[in-house]
Amino acid sequence: MNSKELYAKAKTLMPGGVNSPLRACRYVNAEPVFIENAKGAYLYDVDGRKYIDYVFSWGPQILGHQDPAVSEAAHKAIDQGSSYGAPCFGEVALAEAINKLVPSMDMMRMVSSGTEATMSALRLARGYTGRNKFVKFIGNYHGHADAFLAAAGSAAAVVPGTPGVPEEVTKHTLLAQYNDLDAVKALFEESGDEIACIIVEPAAGNMGLVKPKNGFLQGLRDVCTQYGAVLIFDEVITGFRLARGGAQECYGITPDLTTLGKIIGGGFPVGCFGGKREIMEHMAPVGGVFQAGTLSGNPVAMAAGLATLNRLAECDYAALEARTTAFTEELASIVEGKGKPVHLVQIGSAFTMYFSDKPVTNMIESGQCDSEAYATYWQQMLAQGVYLAPAGFECAFTSFAHTDEDFEKTLEAARKVEF
Ligand code: PMP
Repeated sequence: MNSKELYAKAKTLMPGGVNSPLRACRYVNAEPVFIENAKGAYLYDVDGRKYIDYVFSWGPQILGHQDPAVSEAAHKAIDQGSSYGAPCFGEVALAEAINKLVPSMDMMRMVSSGTEATMSALRLARGYTGRNKFVKFIGNYHGHADAFLAAAGSAAAVVPGTPGVPEEVTKHTLLAQYNDLDAVKALFEESGDEIACIIVEPAAGNMGLVKPKNGFLQGLRDVCTQYGAVLIFDEVITGFRLARGGAQECYGITPDLTTLGKIIGGGFPVGCFGGKREIMEHMAPVGGVFQAGTLSGNPVAMAAGLATLNRLAECDYAALEARTTAFTEELASIVEGKGKPVHLVQIGSAFTMYFSDKPVTNMIESGQCDSEAYATYWQQMLAQGVYLAPAGFECAFTSFAHTDEDFEKTLEAARKVEF
């Protein structure tokens, strides 16, 4: 079956034909292509077409698809059994590797998705502080647990909350604009002794890539320390992406808890939350905060994650950043040369080229970008073999597998786009 046929059948079996909403490509007025294979920097669809990938499964595949060391580790693990429901070596090895690279995570727990990681971190912060309220930022996405689905970014960007979440659940969710420290201070002045935590994407990746303004993260750190609230960095995207030690290494700010996902699973379903020992020891079975998972610490996922982190130790982040800068600056100048103003944001191997003539520092500004122009650009890039995120408010990723030739071919495709 080709993509068109698969999509037609998929729509009869799954809402929108997909298992995660953005994949339906509605924001770019298109139908999805169905992928058959992925290797290195490339995706191959069932229609026999090849694409240079800038999505990489929304972040996990920083080494490119089927990195030989990661594949070998996963295959080897499968040969030893796919799930035990009992402790195994891989959990300890991956936790130790994470602890070395993200030293603020004294202790951690493995789960199976980023959603579980943030949901559990929030429960832990509430259980630890005995407080219910928490602060989240408009346009930050922390997975789809009920409490976070108020003004979430990414796939939920245009949905103000969602049906199915009772008001009683989100009434404890306090909202502030990203980068607005004064708004956070005001919330704490009003109800600081009821706020369990602030959760933040230290560099935001779900309203497009948005950098934290100077002093913003330090300000959050100070407010949390002052009021005895827990600071949670959601590093599901930024972990091992912005730097080996994530955004906390990049910006030099230490959170109390961190959530991870994506890269630490090497393409398998993994999430993780962890942080200060004193807080983590409130988790069951040591403490009273409950959380559990049938597939948590899955041996295949642990092996793939560990192999990924080991491989990343040999990778040159600074070199990839420099290549990404050169590539994205040229890309932006090509599009601008066609009369479309763009605002480029790039950190390391993540970037967003906003179709906007203004800087983007929060969700309001991200929402004002020209989504029609993005759709045109996306469709024509896809037709020329370049696979970009099917929405203008997502970040794109380069990988250690991209060659200079891949970047040059992408630029060549951009030169041919007609708006
Ligand atoms: N937090 C952030 C910052 C994310 O970007 C995502 C997913 N894109 C999540 C949490 C949720 O992770 P998952 O999709 O694995 O549940």
